[in-house]
Amino acid sequence: MKEMESPAEGSAHPYRSECERCFGLCCVALSYTKSADFAFTKEAGTPCSHLRPDSRCRIHADLRVSGFRGCVGYECFGAGQQVSEITYAGKDWRAHPELAAEMFRVFPIMQQLYEMLAYLWEAEQREETLPIRDGLRHARETTEALTRLSAEALALLDVPSHRAIVKEQLLQASALVRAAAAPQERSSGSRSAAASRRGSDLIGARLAGADLRGAELRGALLIAADLRGADLRGTDVLGADFRDANLCGADLADCLYLTQAQVNAAVGDAATKLPAWLNRPEHWQS
Ligand code: SF4
Repeated sequence: MKEMESPAEGSAHPYRSECERCFGLCCVALSYTKSADFAFTKEAGTPCSHLRPDSRCRIHADLRVSGFRGCVGYECFGAGQQVSEITYAGKDWRAHPELAAEMFRVFPIMQQLYEMLAYLWEAEQREETLPIRDGLRHARETTEALTRLSAEALALLDVPSHRAIVKEQLLQASALVRAAAAPQERSSGSRSAAASRRGSDLIGARLAGADLRGAELRGALLIAADLRGADLRGTDVLGADFRDANLCGADLADCLYLTQAQVNAAVGDAATKLPAWLNRPEHWQS
């Protein structure tokens, strides 16, 4: 469900969706409810009426203006091609309806595993995480091994237990990155507007020009927040909700755990700095 992107950008990330290698699984397996993000309600396992027989989206270029912003803000991290090509060895749910129900159960499980892989890979790339590099690599390799399980085994996988192990590694990496990025006065203990805001309600917050270096915005609600020109270097934004957040001129190049889906859901411009592996959405101002 990702937006059209420049092929020259973002090519270095190994965990990213490649829709042309997938059976359109996110457009069938997942449910969504009529809202500001989806124009109509769809049950899990039912193909979206906009899904073409070739597994491409009929309204791909117009998702945002057609009431499907939720599709723009979704990322499978490569789970779709793994399920389509590896787990089911190229057997499409259309040609093999006997596999469809199981495939649609397996896909969201695989998506969770690939999301973990994407975060672990990113944490591994950071020089600040050198002290825990072995743990991060072990967690990633263990997670990769799970993605190669059979469909039957995947359907029975205890994802929450594995996620707890991965979460611990990601939190350790976050602490190292944030400590290195935080301004001196904050790391020495003084209070600051950029103190930990894990899970905070920052909907519509006025944070233009804010110094958020090394802050913890994990799970924060930043819907429609004004982050123009804000400095988010070394900021943990895992799971933060950036829908309609204004990132024009903001520096997110060194942000931690920022995903393409988060970027796609936000507003930005040519001056917004992004990590090298993320693409600048087409709907952003030039
Ligand atoms: S609108 Fe397009 S991208 Fe969204 S679920 Fe339907 S087919 Fe998929």
